[in-house]
Amino acid sequence: LVSRKKKPEDTVVTIKGETIGDGGQSFIVGPCAVESFEQVAAVAEAAKKQGLRLLRGGAFKPRTSPYDFQGLGVEGLKILKQVADEYDMAVISEIVNPADIETAVDYIDVIQIGARNMQNFELLKAAGSVRKPVLLKRGLAATLQEFMNAAEYIIAQGNDQIILCERGIRTYEKATRNTLDISAVPILKQETHLPVFVDVTHSTGRRDLLLPTAKAALAIGADGVMAEVHPDPAVALSDSAQQMNIDQFNEWINELRPLVQAK
Ligand code: PEP
Ligand code: MN
Repeated sequence: LVSRKKKPEDTVVTIKGETIGDGGQSFIVGPCAVESFEQVAAVAEAAKKQGLRLLRGGAFKPRTSPYDFQGLGVEGLKILKQVADEYDMAVISEIVNPADIETAVDYIDVIQIGARNMQNFELLKAAGSVRKPVLLKRGLAATLQEFMNAAEYIIAQGNDQIILCERGIRTYEKATRNTLDISAVPILKQETHLPVFVDVTHSTGRRDLLLPTAKAALAIGADGVMAEVHPDPAVALSDSAQQMNIDQFNEWINELRPLVQAK
C-alpha cells in the first residue's frame, strides 16, 4: 500500500492544518527531550517567530543507557500540549509503548516512532489504528526495504498519514554519529507516495554539520527537515553536543530560507 505503483499521486499529510508532501518544504524543530514548560516554550517562541508551526520534544526517551535521563513521560506530553495551545503549534513526540498511544493522542498531534522501534510491530500496528499522523524514523541499521515494510504495517491498519524520516544509519564511519543516507530521500520518494523528512541532528550528531546537511536535504527534494533546538544545549539532559541554541537556530533557518521550496 505504500508503493507508488499502487498509488501514483503523493500522499499529503495534514497536521493541524499544515500540509506536508504537497511540494512545499517544512521544518520540525524542538528540544531532544521535554525538560520543563519554560524550556519548550522558549523554543516554541523562537520557532513561531520564524514562521514555523511544527514543534518536537521527547517525553519518552529511548536512551541507550538505562542510567541516562528517561524523559518526563505523560508529564512531558502535558507540557507539549500546554505549549502547543499557547503558541498555536502542532506537537510531535515519540511513543515507545503501544499502551501509551491511547493516552498520547489527547496531547500530541503526531506520533513519532523512533529508530530503535522501527520494527516494533505491535507499536506500528497500534499507531496504524489511530487517526493521527505518524512520523516513522528509519531503523539504526534498516535497509530501505525494511523501512518501507515498517510503514506498510502502519498503512495496513488504515492510517496513511505517514511521514518517513531518514535519520542516518550505522556504518563503519566514526566522523559522524550515524551516516546520513541522503540518497534514501529520492529513492523513498520514487518507491513510495509518502512524504520524506531528514533528521539532521541524529544523523550527524554534530552541530557544525546541521547547516550543510539541511541544505543537502532541501536540494535533494526532502519534504522537510528535523533538527533539535534547546535554549541552553550545554545543560540539556540529552544530546547536548548537537542541539542548536536559539541564536544558532535563527542563523540556521535564515540561511536555509532562500532554499526552501514554497507550496
Ligand atoms: C528523537 O528524534 O528524539 C530520537 C531519539 O531519534 P532516533 O529515534 O532517530 O534516534
Ligand atoms: Mn535527540
